[in-house]
Amino acid sequence: MPDFRAHQLNHFDLPERIGRLGELAYNLWWTWMPNAQDLFERIEPTLWEEVTHNPVLFLRKVDRKHLDAAAEYLDYVELYDRIMSAFDSYMRGEDTWFKRNHSDFGKGPIAYFSSEFGLHETLPIYAGGLGVLAGDHLKEASDLGLPLVAMGFIYTQGYFSQHVSEDGWQESRRLTLDFGDLPVMPILDDDGEPFMVSVELAGRELCARIWEIHVGRVPLYLLDSNVDRNTNNDQALTARLYSSDPDLRISQEILLGIGGVRALRMLGYNPVAWHMNEGHSAFLALERAREQVQNGLTFEEAREKIREHNLFTTHTPVPAGNDEFPRWLIDKYFSNFWPELGLDAEGFMALARHEQPWGESFSMPILALRFSGHANGVSKLHGQVSRRMWNFLWPALKEEDVKISYVTNGVHTGTWLARRMGNLYTKYLGKEWKEKLDDPAVWEKVWDIPDEELWRLRTHLKRKMLGYIRERARRQWIGEGIHPVQVIASGVLLDSKTLTIGFARRFATYKRANLILKDVDRLLAILNKRNQPVQIIFAGKAHPADEPGKQLIQEVYRAVKRAENGGRLVFLEDYDIHLARYLVQGVDVWLNTPRRPNEASGTSGEKAALNGALNLSVLDGWWSEGYNGKNGWVIGDDQDDTNSEEQDRADANKLYDLLESEIVPLYYDRPTLGMPPTKWMEMVKESIRTLAPAFSARRMLKEYFENLYVPSAQAAGRLEKVKS
Ligand SMILES: *Cc1c(COP(=O)(O)O)cnc(C)c1O
Repeated sequence: MPDFRAHQLNHFDLPERIGRLGELAYNLWWTWMPNAQDLFERIEPTLWEEVTHNPVLFLRKVDRKHLDAAAEYLDYVELYDRIMSAFDSYMRGEDTWFKRNHSDFGKGPIAYFSSEFGLHETLPIYAGGLGVLAGDHLKEASDLGLPLVAMGFIYTQGYFSQHVSEDGWQESRRLTLDFGDLPVMPILDDDGEPFMVSVELAGRELCARIWEIHVGRVPLYLLDSNVDRNTNNDQALTARLYSSDPDLRISQEILLGIGGVRALRMLGYNPVAWHMNEGHSAFLALERAREQVQNGLTFEEAREKIREHNLFTTHTPVPAGNDEFPRWLIDKYFSNFWPELGLDAEGFMALARHEQPWGESFSMPILALRFSGHANGVSKLHGQVSRRMWNFLWPALKEEDVKISYVTNGVHTGTWLARRMGNLYTKYLGKEWKEKLDDPAVWEKVWDIPDEELWRLRTHLKRKMLGYIRERARRQWIGEGIHPVQVIASGVLLDSKTLTIGFARRFATYKRANLILKDVDRLLAILNKRNQPVQIIFAGKAHPADEPGKQLIQEVYRAVKRAENGGRLVFLEDYDIHLARYLVQGVDVWLNTPRRPNEASGTSGEKAALNGALNLSVLDGWWSEGYNGKNGWVIGDDQDDTNSEEQDRADANKLYDLLESEIVPLYYDRPTLGMPPTKWMEMVKESIRTLAPAFSARRMLKEYFENLYVPSAQAAGRLEKVKS
């Protein structure tokens, strides 16, 4: 079998003394290691911004004389040595949590499948929270030293770039990614031939090549159908995320699930646990069953054998949001596949049949649930909702006995924490806080941080965010011929002394971005109150096919454009990981208003809490666990939303009441102007103390590992023993 390996497409012309910058550019580790990005930025800061923090592009474009100067500058070279030595020691991974606690695990890796990964702004291959969670999962797995490999897609057109017209209508601009500019490497054999994996699609062969991204120690493999051998249509199969065309979607999912298993096998992996992040990759279970049937097992035996090693994480609390395919599509794409499983059409449909008013469909989450030994929701509440939702699959079980547990989502600290906040934590929590960041005891010391110091830093982060917002507005003003009111809508009148609320997320209707606009007069009074003003920053994309989502953006944008709000209501275009970082680090309050229980977990509020912002949220998802009465505020109660006009009005009123009578007065309650608001700072510290450890990806990954991955791997041991 040929040996396949990742090859770097760019070989940079670098001074020898700093010759390993190229290697660093091809490992995303630099994105979450404080100070590592300085190695690029300090060479030429303006270019670094121009290439939006893309080190591959940066090293290709930077003038050799700047590199030579850096190589001779003592201070730079010292930093270089320090970072490279930290990089080497990280990559050797000699002393990791995994090695210290689970060295007996080592039979094979965990395979993690997801249709999107949100890792960095230069890689727009994610749509929203699901992808960012998957990205954080990989980074934390790397930090802990877990043996994990990941599989997904590299979308040649990425997720779109958003522009909003003067009338508030979202326009999507298609991107075309040039992989030569990105930190991705094609997998080639010894002769330089690309690795190809193939699947059958309705009688034809679909090929895909594969790219690799180094996420610290974790390899992420990305499938790409844009190869000459495929028809034009098939070349475009992996062009974009989440097509609404079911034919295209099922084809993508066949490539991800079936092709993904084949790709890992060809690369020489023999995973002991297979993790499906959402149902898009559930066909992987069928390919794994097929492997066993080819080895001589019956289908039932095969299913029993593989099931314990599969895990399924569901993220969708509403039945309509789940991925399913009409029967005719299954007939079209699987009629050559089911004989290989020893099944007929009926037997195959029965694996995941879901009766719908409009006929039978094949449900990806049902397939995943039936073929997984372990399944989980992404918050405690979402676990309950999922057990209720899927109870019908096991009618003999009581709801609480349905085997769906939960692991509440967390965020990767190194990615989301402002660097200076990290320095502050080092100063007051002790140097080892990063090693123990999921340990609540470490965070008790947050009380030792002087108010003054924390407040000064929070103000600095807010100013930094506002500076970034203004710079974006300037670029739009110069480059895009927008109307002056759109410049104001882009945030140029925002002010650093004003209480600032952030609302940024996908514009899906259940998230109710317009809730705070229910009573515009009341809102305007809050925004413009004398000596106690408030400003609100909105951002978010709607899926291009989601008309109600786009209408929601328009409604918000029309309110934003009104002169009466004084430029204190703004909408920022093109929400992505980059903008998200500024917002979660810079705002005072993070607002979240979903219709409960539709927000399975949510993670942006966790990022904000880590940086010292306070959450103001419906008691849904993670917040129904995080809120303790003293670390933020709740809108409404712990009842599910009735999805009605009255509910919206009641929630909006509660929101205004809270702002008017608690939040705004608390923020502006200062001993003297310029001093920190004492009670506010107390809440901020309570919020950091309670939320930072509990909603970290560190805690999350340890739970996945100990509660789900280890039992999966051990099941492998048992089965092997039975056989021998
Ligand atoms: C964190 C994040 C999300 C998820 O936000 P939620 O509030 O959990 O929906 C979505 N998009 C981006 C860019 C993010 O960084």
